[in-house]
Amino acid sequence: MSYNNTAYSCGIEGDKLKKVEYRITEEHCRKMIFGVCSCCGGKIEPIETVDNSGNPTFWGGCKKCSAFDWGVRKTVWRVARTLVESNTVIPYPHLQENEYTLLKDYIDAQTSGAVDIVRKVLVEYEKELK
Ligand SMILES: [Zn+2]
Repeated sequence: MSYNNTAYSCGIEGDKLKKVEYRITEEHCRKMIFGVCSCCGGKIEPIETVDNSGNPTFWGGCKKCSAFDWGVRKTVWRVARTLVESNTVIPYPHLQENEYTLLKDYIDAQTSGAVDIVRKVLVEYEKELK
């Protein structure tokens, strides 16, 4: 599948639309987004940004918690959150609750790590089913 990575931004130079070459266009980005934010469970949407080389691009992200993320299946997030909230899984033991202004931010960070653990469990489970 190929994508046309040339898009037109809303920036106006004189009376013309400014042509911007995006590494990942908004349309392509929307196709790569799946599920909910792995930190807070919020909506993932295309966010206009620049990549590490300074090139304009769209990346998936969550405006609620300001994390760049392509999304995770909602069930995976829910299981991860439950494991963190019940103190069953603390994937980042070096993080301290009191270092966060909001307890929710601490829980979001731990949930993001727990999502990786839940995903690994599911990969092993699916291997066993084959
Ligand atoms: Zn989020």
